[in-house]
Amino acid sequence: MKDSNFLKENNARHFWHPMAHPADSQKNPPTILTGGEGICITDVDGHKTIDAVGGLWNVNLGYSCQPVKDAIADQLSALPYYSTFRGTTNDKAIELSYELAQFFAADGLTRAFFTSGGSDSVEVALKLSRQYHRIRGEAGRSKFISLKQGYHGTHFGGASVNGNAKFRNAYEPLLPGCFHIPAPYTYRNPFDESDPERLAQLCVKALEAEIAFQGANTIAAFIMEPVLGAGGVIPPHKSFMPMVRDVCTKHGILLISDEVITAFGRTGTQSGARHWGVQVDIMTTAKAITNGYFPFGAAMIAGHVAEVFEQDTSGLGSVDQGYTYSGHPVGAAAALAALSEINRLKVWQNAGARGDELYAGVKKLKDKYDMVGDVRGGEGLMCALELVSDAATKAPIAKHLPVALQKATYDDGVMVRVSGNNIILSPPLIITANDVEKILSALDTGLGSI
Ligand code: PLP
Repeated sequence: MKDSNFLKENNARHFWHPMAHPADSQKNPPTILTGGEGICITDVDGHKTIDAVGGLWNVNLGYSCQPVKDAIADQLSALPYYSTFRGTTNDKAIELSYELAQFFAADGLTRAFFTSGGSDSVEVALKLSRQYHRIRGEAGRSKFISLKQGYHGTHFGGASVNGNAKFRNAYEPLLPGCFHIPAPYTYRNPFDESDPERLAQLCVKALEAEIAFQGANTIAAFIMEPVLGAGGVIPPHKSFMPMVRDVCTKHGILLISDEVITAFGRTGTQSGARHWGVQVDIMTTAKAITNGYFPFGAAMIAGHVAEVFEQDTSGLGSVDQGYTYSGHPVGAAAALAALSEINRLKVWQNAGARGDELYAGVKKLKDKYDMVGDVRGGEGLMCALELVSDAATKAPIAKHLPVALQKATYDDGVMVRVSGNNIILSPPLIITANDVEKILSALDTGLGSI
């Protein structure tokens, strides 16, 4: 490894960071990480912290998951790459498609289309839903509806269904035919409705109104995260996704569940859709599928949707998209090992129990500190603290303060994530009750210090 002075001097000089201004990355250099063990990360100066971010919602099994590391090393020796484009495949990708179909059997998802990550999976899902309607003779169904505050990655399709202007403005005009309805975000919504169940009904009404306005026969799919993640951890009322399912079914619109964060246990259930008792038509996954150790993803397709493609005899069912790394044998081997660990440890159970403890703890912090305007969580191991400068007006806190809070918790041994005026917590799903205590204590210290 180059010495720490070299790394610090060159950090962000030649390397543009995602989601960052290049000038800011140079002025405020990011933390340089050099090690990971268990649920902890270590920086170039040897400072060790609990990773309450879980990498980026993906290192669900922590940094010492030996079975995944071994699977990657073994596969690199056996077959480091081959394409899965028509005509060739590999043993690991086949086995993984079988195992994923078992894992998502209760969700009715039986086919996998492999990708290199979450944005890819979203793109595949959007394209397949248009194609599904075309095969069935409804080529006019090309539009997409999604939720404001939703995050669906950064490709043009995903950015177009994204519900946050920050990820859209610099890249407009985006894909035409994408429309957004209010999210079930009780703290801030255009209806001034703070009751989650009533708000869920209002948002579903807005969906029905948008469908009526556009014309149902022009809409291909509705895409949503079962719990909005990057937009600030927004769990809807439990009635929301089932109501959305009913509306989509009534109007022949496909329901895409974007589970790049929520699949594989984060919500306390194997999938976010299952968490809400809903079966969806396409589910996008990535991140934890390889425990973050290899870039990989999958769009999972429901049997009834897959059959439309498979039974097509006109040629319209040919899947004319894919990535060089779709079904990468090393990624597939990593995913097989991760899935086996996820099942062996039943990590969703720990995510549920620890998630409840974490949520109970952040609620206490809200009572203690006026600057904590809202806390969200309670649906597995994902929480947010929304910081405000004035509880009555809900004006967001000055920009530098969440960053100062992050620095204080980091110094105290816990890495948290700042997203706008939200502090986001998404630790590995294997954390203990003691780790939860440490995270809460560092947040308490941090909030007290800013
Ligand atoms: N969809 C959701 C719900 C996500 O949270 C993310 C990333 O955080 C993506 C899509 C994009 O995934 P990736 O960053 O792997 O392209």
